[in-house]
Amino acid sequence: MGRYTGPSCRLCRRAGAKLFLKGARCYMSKCAIDQGHPAPGVHGMRRSRKVSEYGHQLREKQKLRQQYGLQEGQFRRFYEQALRTKGVTGENLLQRLELRLDNVIYRMGLAVSRQNARQFVLHKHVAVNGRTANVPSIVLRVGDVVTVRDRPRSRDQATRAIEAATARQMPAWITVDPKAFRGEVLSIPTREEIAPVVEEQAIVELYSR
Ligand code: SF4
Repeated sequence: MGRYTGPSCRLCRRAGAKLFLKGARCYMSKCAIDQGHPAPGVHGMRRSRKVSEYGHQLREKQKLRQQYGLQEGQFRRFYEQALRTKGVTGENLLQRLELRLDNVIYRMGLAVSRQNARQFVLHKHVAVNGRTANVPSIVLRVGDVVTVRDRPRSRDQATRAIEAATARQMPAWITVDPKAFRGEVLSIPTREEIAPVVEEQAIVELYSR
């Protein structure tokens, strides 16, 4: 299946939760979810129908996949890597997604959205541990240092994002020095710190079918 190119807010309305897909708008009162817009489609206003267990699991998977802007195959690969990692699969999946380079850049406030962060990486505006990185899906480790490269275009873009990110709360598992355009991963995020919008166990059950 190809990349979704429709309206971002429609995905949040379908999920019934804020997926933070649009940058600064997501933190303003204009947000469709904050304004109580219903699910899309002619039956969007109908009171929620009973959803089957499979339907619920599928909905949870779509929500998490869309939140991180992944396609089905990429998401499945992340799940399989989580399955092979020691520990609780659902939590491993959340942590791996959270530690993706594009997500870390978004969390650090160096990009306005995950999609923007992805493009920021693809255009080689960042370096990880001093080396230019252009793969948004790499999973960072504790101690990894992300810097915006010392180029006017890279720094201008990051400055605009940092200014727009003042309304956001910085997670405790990362630290950022906006003046130095530098951030570091301090620890593996816990489930509480990630505060997922989904029941990750439903995703594990879906893929275990
Ligand atoms: Fe749109 Fe709100 Fe979702 Fe952001 S969080 S994409 S503004 S509905």
